[in-house]
Amino acid sequence: TLGVPDLTTWLRRYAAEIVAHEQELTDLDAAIGDGDHGANMTRGMTAVVAVLDQTPFETLDALAKKVGMTLVSSVGGASGPLYGTFWLRFAKPLSGLARTDAATLGLALRAGVEGIQQRGKAEGGDKTMLDAFLPALAAYDAAVDAGAEPTAALRDAATAGRAGCAATVTMVARKGRASYLGERSAGHQDPGATSAALLLECAVS
Ligand code: ADP
Ligand code: MG
Ligand code: MG
Repeated sequence: TLGVPDLTTWLRRYAAEIVAHEQELTDLDAAIGDGDHGANMTRGMTAVVAVLDQTPFETLDALAKKVGMTLVSSVGGASGPLYGTFWLRFAKPLSGLARTDAATLGLALRAGVEGIQQRGKAEGGDKTMLDAFLPALAAYDAAVDAGAEPTAALRDAATAGRAGCAATVTMVARKGRASYLGERSAGHQDPGATSAALLLECAVS
């Protein structure tokens, strides 16, 4: 099962990885966007860590909801509302729970990813963060259907998310700033898919 301390560890690990990869995210976004994805994500996750340092959380949904609100309020640009929506929707299936089993965690992940889709109106293949999230979700569900525990299912999700991120290199962007470049967006890895792959990788050590 996954409990509040595990989600806290996940978020702290993610904040550290975002800082470690800030320049990479900046460079990726400079190539096909406006070069602020590293700064946006660092600002958001630094604010999340400040919340974790200040506030104890008793339930997964209270923590996830606060993370979502913190990202929405601290990150400008497309990624703030999208990651914010992910965590706000992720919270709902976990209402009142201090721990979750693999199946309920799958519902939370699905709700989060569907929230990103509803908010940003993108589909798989549009060269966005969804190109990491959608294959990760499918891999997670397949692992749980095969009887996997949350940790093993999250590990499969991370592997699929990283592969999905790598696949964005050849895609032509159809959503977000990179879509302004049209065909010239091909040949570059999507910054949001890169931060999403990192998020999934941080779920397991
Ligand atoms: P901005 O583009 O406003 O500067 P960021 O640079 O922080 O915001 O984030 C850019 C990332 O957001 C993109 O690489 C892409 O993955 C993601 N993104 C942009 N628009 C959408 C959308 N409509 N749906 C899903 N993801 C999107
Ligand atoms: Mg940007
Ligand atoms: Mg921007």
